[in-house]
Amino acid sequence: MRKAKGLSHYIYPKRGVIIYMEILKLVSPSYPISNTYRPINLVQDPITKVWLVKEAFEQFYKMNNVLQKEGLSSLCISSGYRSYMYQQSLCAKKEKLGFNNIAKEGCSEHQLGIAMDLMTTPVINDTRNNDLSVTNLNNRSLQVFDLTFHKQWLDINSADFGFILRYPFDKSYITGVPYKAYHYRYVGVSHAKKIVKNGLCLEEYIEMHTSMRYF
Ligand SMILES: [Zn+2]
Repeated sequence: MRKAKGLSHYIYPKRGVIIYMEILKLVSPSYPISNTYRPINLVQDPITKVWLVKEAFEQFYKMNNVLQKEGLSSLCISSGYRSYMYQQSLCAKKEKLGFNNIAKEGCSEHQLGIAMDLMTTPVINDTRNNDLSVTNLNNRSLQVFDLTFHKQWLDINSADFGFILRYPFDKSYITGVPYKAYHYRYVGVSHAKKIVKNGLCLEEYIEMHTSMRYF
């Protein structure tokens, strides 16, 4: 296995196999992350005030520019980095409202700082105008964002900037997470292109990568 330049080690817990890429780190209920994990190089989007790892933010910025040059309105990041504590409070808030399909603290890849929820400005306005609760926001956003030209554009182009749709409709039996049209994950251009070209989800790609069947 080749070691990626400048990226740190990570022990794949189940198999004890070393993955040399932090950007491929898997976070889920089966692979929880430490409560002390905090990504380095976080930067804040001056418009939305959302935090993301610098490289992911720069790639988003580039992607958003190209998308606008092609005639679409700007995309917004509605959620990026979430600390362990923040996820904990978000979870408690949603559970209080009887909503239990949000990742528990330590199980959300938002803690990595390279996952983001994307919205168009009209979608954000729509949800705000309807005064939707935190509970309904994601369900509503999912339905609306999935029907936008932005989503179609992202399906074709996001991998060119290193982003993948993290929870595809036809892979929920593997990811364990229902389809999320708005949730994108940065994995770098090279990995993203291979993942999309081969119709894989991140779990499948990591499995192939670690078993060295893919390369
Ligand atoms: Zn998300």
